Amino acid sequence: MATERTFSILKPDATRRNLTGAINAKIEAAGLRIVAQKRIHMTTQQAETFYGVHRERGFFRDLVTFMTSGPVVVQVLEGENAIAKYREVMGATNPANAAPGTIRKEFAESIEANSAHGSDSAENAAIEIAYFFAGCEIVG
Ligand code: ATP
Ligand code: MG
Repeated sequence: MATERTFSILKPDATRRNLTGAINAKIEAAGLRIVAQKRIHMTTQQAETFYGVHRERGFFRDLVTFMTSGPVVVQVLEGENAIAKYREVMGATNPANAAPGTIRKEFAESIEANSAHGSDSAENAAIEIAYFFAGCEIVG
């Protein structure tokens, strides 16, 4: 297995409820290393671009409104098989379907306010990391 990097967002429902430390504890317990992290308030344009693949979906406008409703923490996570591993640690998109012990099972409020984002492929991880971080901000 290769060492990979994936892109993570702790979403506005997580920052609002002061859960970023609890979520980071799960990330680190899973063996993923937080090699970059910053707190930002996404602009509408950033959220629209980031979730552009969902532009035609019925939930798109609500999703953009949610992602810009408060601060988020954007992160780069590094580790063995990091992309698939973080998807496992997050759990299913809908918390009702998420496995016990996952971030979304324990913390998500709804299918929309589901506490965390993680890249779904190596290609998207590279695009998403480059969208939010300069190379010099990532310290492995
Ligand atoms: P993410 O991309 O945030 O890691 P994901 O890959 O599990 O989540 P996607 O299908 O890419 O899920 O959906 C992106 C985000 O859009 C979800 O995390 C959730 O916040 C929101 N979303 C997805 N499906 C719905 C839905 N049916 N209703 C409302 N919001 C949704
Ligand atoms: Mg996704």
